[in-house]
Amino acid sequence: MSRALVIGNWKMHGSAAFTEELLGQLLARREVVSAAVAVCPPYPYLAMAQQLLADSGIAWGAQNLSAHEQGAFTGEVAADMLKDLGCRFVLVGHSERRALYGEDDAQVAAKFVAAQSAGLVPVLCLGETLAQREADETLAVVAGQLKAVLAVAGAAALADAVVAYEPVWAIGTGKTASPQQAQEVHGYIRQLLAEAVPELAAKVSLLYGGSVKAANAAELFAQQDIDGALVGGASLKADEFVSICEACG
Ligand code: PEP
Repeated sequence: MSRALVIGNWKMHGSAAFTEELLGQLLARREVVSAAVAVCPPYPYLAMAQQLLADSGIAWGAQNLSAHEQGAFTGEVAADMLKDLGCRFVLVGHSERRALYGEDDAQVAAKFVAAQSAGLVPVLCLGETLAQREADETLAVVAGQLKAVLAVAGAAALADAVVAYEPVWAIGTGKTASPQQAQEVHGYIRQLLAEAVPELAAKVSLLYGGSVKAANAAELFAQQDIDGALVGGASLKADEFVSICEACG
């Protein structure tokens, strides 16, 4: 099966009217794209995504989930609830969750496990800060984040997971990692996966995220271990997002 996949992370943007219009625009252009495509709108619009995208070939997912199954966790949303809404994917460990909400590797691992237990595909986000890159710690940081999840979920959990490399300094900043910088980390992640589960490494979709746009997508996707993208800002514009999807396959 192809590893080509583009996921749009809408973050906390939009309204009901905006969501309906953007989903309609994506549906109208669906035919031109052969890569797998998914969108992650804010929670309140997941039901609309389910209604409008059903049977379209475009999947939908959530941007976060609780590590808990049920209970007194005001404001949280459980994996089974996302499954009820037809979600296929859920982002886990996005750098904004790590930086703004203090999610540590243990919480990320627990969320990863909760997602898989409910039958969702976790999209595990990894990436270094600018300070870490400048201190030459990029590969060690990414390896630590990945291994923290594998230690809890088990390497076999990668059979049905997606990994997204998102350098924190490139998210929402307009600064994209060069194709060579991104490939270096993607190649390293693929190597780590191969060490953990040789038979799975070639099957895992490795997405790049960080200011991907139509203008830079093709050169990123041309890299051997960059299978697709996790797209923030550019996923809010149908033309831009569809162009990125087209560049992916
Ligand atoms: C993201 O939110 O995961 C992301 C990569 O954002 P942007 O494309 O805007 O940098």
